[in-house]
Amino acid sequence: MRKITFLLLLASSTLFAQRTCLTHEKMNNVLNTPEKKAHHDEVMNFVKNSSQDNLFRTSGSNGTQSTNTVITIPVVFHVLYKNPNQNISDAQIQSQLDVLNRDYRKLNTDFSAVVPSVFQGISADMEIVFCKATKTPSGATTTGIVRKSIASSVSFGDSYYLAAGDPAWDPTKYLNVWVGILNGDYNGILGWAYLPDQAGQAWDGFVCDYRYFGTTGTATAPFNLGRTCTHEIGHYLGLDHPWGEDDSLCGSASNDDGVADTPATNGPYFECPTFPSNEFACTATPNGSIFMNYMDYVNDACMAMFTNGQKALVQNTMSGPRASLLTSASTACGALSVEDFQAIKAITVYPNPVSVEFFIASPFKSIDEVEIYNQNGQLVKSAKVDSTDSYRMNVDGLASGIYYLRIYDKNEFVKSDKLIIK
Ligand SMILES: [Zn+2]
Repeated sequence: MRKITFLLLLASSTLFAQRTCLTHEKMNNVLNTPEKKAHHDEVMNFVKNSSQDNLFRTSGSNGTQSTNTVITIPVVFHVLYKNPNQNISDAQIQSQLDVLNRDYRKLNTDFSAVVPSVFQGISADMEIVFCKATKTPSGATTTGIVRKSIASSVSFGDSYYLAAGDPAWDPTKYLNVWVGILNGDYNGILGWAYLPDQAGQAWDGFVCDYRYFGTTGTATAPFNLGRTCTHEIGHYLGLDHPWGEDDSLCGSASNDDGVADTPATNGPYFECPTFPSNEFACTATPNGSIFMNYMDYVNDACMAMFTNGQKALVQNTMSGPRASLLTSASTACGALSVEDFQAIKAITVYPNPVSVEFFIASPFKSIDEVEIYNQNGQLVKSAKVDSTDSYRMNVDGLASGIYYLRIYDKNEFVKSDKLIIK
């Protein structure tokens, strides 16, 4: 069965250069006993259906509004190369990190062009940022990048987490990313990630071919905008494809991603469809499928959004099976962690809406810089702010509309907030 799947993927990917994600095949390989499958089902049922109060949601709210609680997830990159070309540059890794940090904050500059206006209202700022690790699990200083030459006889896709590859850093504390060559049985596969019920397992993390990673260097069109990583880390955070666990007939139990605002499809959209499209929709609607969702199979340039429903699901993951990541950022990359949330929650931008100048009340935490982004994710203004001047900033020269603030302290991100200019 596995070989047949691989052959089909190989054939389709070679002919059409279509996105191929191996998450479900890899999950099926590890869910090899009834007990493991039952655990998977229970964890994913929690992720998809929990309405418990958690860090992000209290009774009565649906968890889809901004919580102003930005989660920072530490990342370690394992570059496993068989030749110098596969030993991708620091700049290529940084380009991938930059894509993640734009896509998961809805700061991607292609948002307005790619997402039709009818879907922009349900698209989410996931309020997740990713930092390169600055400390190893034992506390040593690190760049967050591990480079290792591996034997050409080693199958990267089978052995990445073993001694022949490079074992994970504590997967309950770090998101492990392995980059290498997926060939042989894996030819044509872009990557995969494990769903949250595999949290803490030796293989837990995101695996990617070096040709579909970042936006520079070896990145290869049409998967050269870093969206394979955005998609796969969606799986890591609990998201499924819009067609569910497989492309079974519409209406079947497995044809469901557990997200109410992603219309069901009976399979993936590929390449770059024209809006609106009901080609694979289970139920035809005027606006059609949200094929420009990061969790579909379209080309990198044609995906640009998560939905509010997907955000609520990810918040369940972060409050449950991946909650251990919440407390690791402060030690693993010197970033904010859950302990700072109350101090951050206390930060208030006022007046808002504003016409001339605004202030920031931050009673428990120092801040020193503010950036203002427009709705296209473009930086339109930045300024140093000072507590002796009540963290004052004027909005001279900015047109009326909705903007997003990013607030920093000593170059470290502190908080984002929405600002309305009258
Ligand atoms: Zn996928």
